[in-house]
Amino acid sequence: TVRTRFAPSPTGYLHIGGARTALFSWAYAKRHGGHFILRIEDTDVERSTPEAVQAILDGMKWLNLDYDEGPFYQMQRMERYKQVIQQMLDEGTAYRCYMSSEELDAIREAQRERGEKPRYDGRWRPDAGKVLPQLPVGVAPVIRFKNPTEGVVAWKDQVKDYIEFANAELDDFIIARSDGTPTYNFCVVVDDWDMGITHVIRGDDHVNNTPRQINLLRALGATPPHYAHLSMILGDDGQKLSKRHGAVSVTQYDDDGYLPEAVLNYLGRLGWSHGDDEIFNIEQFCEWFDLDHITPSAAQFNTEKLNWLNAHYLKLADDARLAELVRTRLQARGIVVTDAPALADIMALYKGRVANLNTLADEAEVFYIDLQPSQALLSEQLIPEAVPALAELVEELATVEWSAASIGALIKQVIGNHGLKMPKLAMPLRVMLVGQTHTPSVDAVVALFPRELALARIKKHL
Ligand code: GLU
Repeated sequence: TVRTRFAPSPTGYLHIGGARTALFSWAYAKRHGGHFILRIEDTDVERSTPEAVQAILDGMKWLNLDYDEGPFYQMQRMERYKQVIQQMLDEGTAYRCYMSSEELDAIREAQRERGEKPRYDGRWRPDAGKVLPQLPVGVAPVIRFKNPTEGVVAWKDQVKDYIEFANAELDDFIIARSDGTPTYNFCVVVDDWDMGITHVIRGDDHVNNTPRQINLLRALGATPPHYAHLSMILGDDGQKLSKRHGAVSVTQYDDDGYLPEAVLNYLGRLGWSHGDDEIFNIEQFCEWFDLDHITPSAAQFNTEKLNWLNAHYLKLADDARLAELVRTRLQARGIVVTDAPALADIMALYKGRVANLNTLADEAEVFYIDLQPSQALLSEQLIPEAVPALAELVEELATVEWSAASIGALIKQVIGNHGLKMPKLAMPLRVMLVGQTHTPSVDAVVALFPRELALARIKKHL
């Protein structure tokens, strides 16, 4: 069965690139009825923080990317790594290297002078018939992996196709430091092995680690998983995605008014395609997702498309759910949301008109504050002939059946009585009620208010 993992290093937020990697790994497991594992790679103690761990968990939660196993923390697996290091020493697939850092620097310097690529020279590698140097005193050894010296290490990458490295290019890399702590590539390998990972889906910044990891897995007698290396994501401007693009963390998209399903749909298309389909929900994505249709070239971020998807999903979203999301936003602005007008009714009327939850909150806000419409805007919209018509409307509104249909019929009747065109009445009415002229149908807007509140807002200006 398929087993995938997302293995972030908690040195920062869950950003867009990481979220896409998580989504692809998650969806691949879902598609194949497999398991998705979350593994926190926190061995870089200098750069890892509990806040970053939390930010990653929050980001996954917001996107609804649940995991079947984990989160596992590498720092809690130290005993296991040490056990495997001992095993490799016992089996002769790893060895102690007593070269001091001064010596290493010296050989690197010499190599550089000869125009060679700096690399460990295999001094302490115990090959058959080789005499090793005299054991120095007081040097704590590092442990090095005995990398094959000949042939190639190759794999068919599920995204980038065939990739190979000559073993002669890979030196005997360190798997444990002199203080005994295991190194990055080693921990990844032990974890992928122990966790039975079948498909490693990750960023292509790890392509150079893969040959080392494959050799290490083979030395442990493990079958390497399949690898799919995702190309990077470029910003709107074609530059490498960075903090400059505003989107530091996926949860920032929450703050910025995006729905998680819009972000998921967007991420799904970021470097993967299914014909011309642009809109698909997460269930559909899980049914379709495959590694064959991941593009090997870099994907470019497109904020306009994300906004378009957000507008689409806002339109589809349930009114009660939107009301809760908007209520939180209004509360954060210090606005008390009362029962009347009902926030869910405002959502129903406005959700098809905006591309963003924060804009939706802006639209809703005016229903709950002590609105002071701009006098300039009002005088611009309110012609003297409309004043008696509005007075008549106010009178009739006091008793009319309180529905958009009846209110609409009433407005038509009043403009007829006064020989006015619809906008001459509707525009000032809009300004009085919600402070602006761009609104849904005016009868529907009036009907959102409780009768008394609508009357009060109009009367104030007559
Ligand atoms: N921890 C690595 C990172 O955050 C990912 C390692 C992997 O997926 O193999 O870049």
